[in-house]
Amino acid sequence: MGLTKTYKDGTTPTVCIIGAGFSGMCAAIRLQTQLNLKTYTIFELEPELGGTWWSNTYPGCACDVQSIIYQFSFEPNYEWTKTFAGQQEIWEYQRRVAKKYNIYEKIRFSTEITRIEWYESLQQWVLDWISRLTGETGQMQADVVISGTGPLRLPQIPKQFDNFEGPKWHTSQWNHDFDLANKRIAVIGSGTSAIQVVPAIVDKVKKLEFYQRSATWVIPRDNPKITAFWKFLFKYVPFVHFIFFKLAYWNREATLRIFSTKWRDVFSRRFTMFVAWAHRYWQVRDNQLRKKLTPDYALGCRRVAVSSDYYPALSKKNVNVHTAAIVDVKGKTLTLNDGSKQEVDALVLATGFRVQDFVAEGFVIGKNKCDLSKAWGQAPKTYYGIATAEAPNMFFILGPNSVLGHNSVLFMIETACDYAVMAISHMMEKNLSSIQVTPKASKDFGDEVKEKMKGMVWSTKCTSWYKNEQDEITALWWSSCTHYWWRLRKFRPQHFSVVPRSKSAAVHM
Ligand SMILES: Cc1cc2nc3c(=O)[nH]c(=O)nc-3n(C[C@H](O)[C@H](O)[C@H](O)COP(=O)(O)OP(=O)(O)OC[C@H]3O[C@@H](n4cnc5c(N)ncnc54)[C@H](O)[C@@H]3O)c2cc1C
Repeated sequence: MGLTKTYKDGTTPTVCIIGAGFSGMCAAIRLQTQLNLKTYTIFELEPELGGTWWSNTYPGCACDVQSIIYQFSFEPNYEWTKTFAGQQEIWEYQRRVAKKYNIYEKIRFSTEITRIEWYESLQQWVLDWISRLTGETGQMQADVVISGTGPLRLPQIPKQFDNFEGPKWHTSQWNHDFDLANKRIAVIGSGTSAIQVVPAIVDKVKKLEFYQRSATWVIPRDNPKITAFWKFLFKYVPFVHFIFFKLAYWNREATLRIFSTKWRDVFSRRFTMFVAWAHRYWQVRDNQLRKKLTPDYALGCRRVAVSSDYYPALSKKNVNVHTAAIVDVKGKTLTLNDGSKQEVDALVLATGFRVQDFVAEGFVIGKNKCDLSKAWGQAPKTYYGIATAEAPNMFFILGPNSVLGHNSVLFMIETACDYAVMAISHMMEKNLSSIQVTPKASKDFGDEVKEKMKGMVWSTKCTSWYKNEQDEITALWWSSCTHYWWRLRKFRPQHFSVVPRSKSAAVHM
């Protein structure tokens, strides 16, 4: 790939990266390694990098795809201790990578970007920031903004639990000071975080009251240790690591079929449903409990969980599984619509994230003073989740319609970062002050997503964070990772309008 690395006058654009999770880190590394671009700053509101893997420290937190594919392709880790690594290990991997590429020195920690606005006359973004430590505020001008603010970051906390008069916390903000031993704990929610938390705490607590609105599809997961022998092979024997990486990757790509509702994929779907059914039947011997844990929607409509210790945990004597809705919370008592009441010592809210709040109101003011949150509403209009017609020189990593239900999102992050790098390189090569995806290219992508989603299980009836209130799938990419890469393997100037440096009127290439 022949990338242009500076403008003709030898300068490079100023880039502001928002967020220091995997997305922000990858964007920084790609700018450094592919463009040798040093004129960038990362703003991170937390005091450490890592994003998801810094904030989610709940017991049992781990990735649910094999670690060998949950790592940067350019930074293989030969030291994973388990097939599905835990939070601490993933976070340590992120820190190691950040140190290797000297990213720490580029990050302004505990500094939140509160608002960004595009100034057409300057052909630049102006970013407002605030220090979370000192309250100091300031502004920064940037030619390009790369947003890696993360889709699963803002906790979804139902209002009804405000009245609870005991300790309560969301899984992404685990209260490590609270001693669970001998306590009555309520876990609210049955998504993938709950499925990891419950087995990790069940033996510590006196009683676990588990509240499930809708059962989750669960398939078995073996999580063998990676022995010293395998680590040696991965590290020193050529191609072994590469082959295992490819096997895991293509195996995951093949699972896309279970999310398709087309006739040709019926066998894959039925087979996976059978595996899930047999797993449930084998592990839950109590008929009544099994009935409660049987999903009433199509497999894959919500995220499929992988666990071999979730059902055994729920089958323990100190666990009660409730399927009735919580209608009242007073003091430390939860009342359900079946009339039952439970008094508990603490609440664990495994209630997921506000994925549909893509951008907060007033956070991004784009071209023609357009507030992106209003322009998008609950139906973001983007070009492969990466760019939007309202915001020139802005790239989203893991933006709308680029999250996955079947494979590692790190592949998507790398692909989007590569596209942003190609776009910045194009700006320098053609001496452009701004580029902006055309409304037509963005609309075509949106129309295609709508059409393709019709053949996918995510569009069937269920409540999930993949879709908005109008039942449109706004979070997920509809196809394989390889397909996403294929579409974005080269920069397509015909899909962008541009402004040459020193001119103000937009022209079409
Ligand atoms: C518990 C859990 C398990 C997961 N497991 C998997 C898995 O197994 N496989 C998989 O593919 N995906 C998984 N995911 C999805 C996961 O979110 C992504 O894989 C990945 O970590 C996202 O990285 P990111 O950098 O895009 O976002 P994040 O990791 O969320 O990072 C975003 C960063 O941006 C910062 N930020 C946000 N707004 C601002 C602002 N205004 N100013 C400054 N900084 C800001 C945040 O503080 C954060 O550090 C999981 C998610 C969760 C929550």
